[in-house]
Amino acid sequence: MKDLYAVIGKPIAHSKSPQIHLSFARSCGQNIDYTKIEGVVGDFAGQVDALRRAGGRGLNITAPFKLDAYAYASQLSERAQFAGAVNAMRFERGVVEGENFDGVGLVRDIVVNLGVPLAGARVLVLGAGGAARGTLPYFLAERPASLVVVNRTIDKARALAAQFATRGPIAAADYDALGGAPFDIVINATSASMTHELPPIPASAFQGCRLAYELAYGKGLTPFLARAREGQVHRLVDGVGMLVEQAAEAFTWWRGVRPETADVIKAITVPIE
Ligand code: NDP
Repeated sequence: MKDLYAVIGKPIAHSKSPQIHLSFARSCGQNIDYTKIEGVVGDFAGQVDALRRAGGRGLNITAPFKLDAYAYASQLSERAQFAGAVNAMRFERGVVEGENFDGVGLVRDIVVNLGVPLAGARVLVLGAGGAARGTLPYFLAERPASLVVVNRTIDKARALAAQFATRGPIAAADYDALGGAPFDIVINATSASMTHELPPIPASAFQGCRLAYELAYGKGLTPFLARAREGQVHRLVDGVGMLVEQAAEAFTWWRGVRPETADVIKAITVPIE
């Protein structure tokens, strides 16, 4: 019998995770099954119990269940604790290990795939939700010159800056204060693009920016990327590379073999026009 893995989320129909993991499995000679589970809010634990009873070995977790997964796991990695959320689980001998690979996936996409160093860079992150929280310590580990977090609800940005202050030069700011100091890299870690909204960032905040990175993926030119283009940024990227890189981390953790990611990223990239 093949080892069974799955992704759970709501909605889940358009998830690329089965395609990504089955491509990895083919290229690495791993004989696995990978399926999608349409999550039921309020019954996350019941659904994961059922997967485990069916012989499931691991699970990817996407919105809105990352906090449920955090509560369900019996062991949490440091990464999961930083993020306060779990996006991958491994089931072994009755233990449920919870991990979070979003931060490491994003950093790897920027530094390795895109070839843009974070070391010495002035980085601006929009948003202070789960994705931002899981990512900030990994940005700081790359030793940027500065890392500024802005959020609509400023207290959340301040709390994150305080939480990670011992790890590097991090500060919180208001959207109103943007447009003065330049940034090399601007990252949209808000969920605004999911509803085709624009976080209130002025085009002037992109002056001199080398890379505008949108965490949402497959949406083409989002309002954030359009604003970056208006601000003369030439390199506009979405989160498809982050998605594939976090999947590769999970696959490596589950199977003990690291897949190549370049062809998979290419296969599912939607052009930004
Ligand atoms: P959360 O719901 O945890 O956080 C949402 C954040 O967006 C909050 O900071 C919120 O601000 C802010 N926000 C929402 N709408 C607006 C708006 N109109 N203007 C300004 N700020 C806004 O979401 P996540 O952190 O989990 O996800 C963020 C994004 O990252 C999503 O688009 C998600 O799809 C993407 N993502 C991509 C991944 C990938 O692999 N590529 C992996 C994980 C996430 P406030 O606090 O004020 O409400």
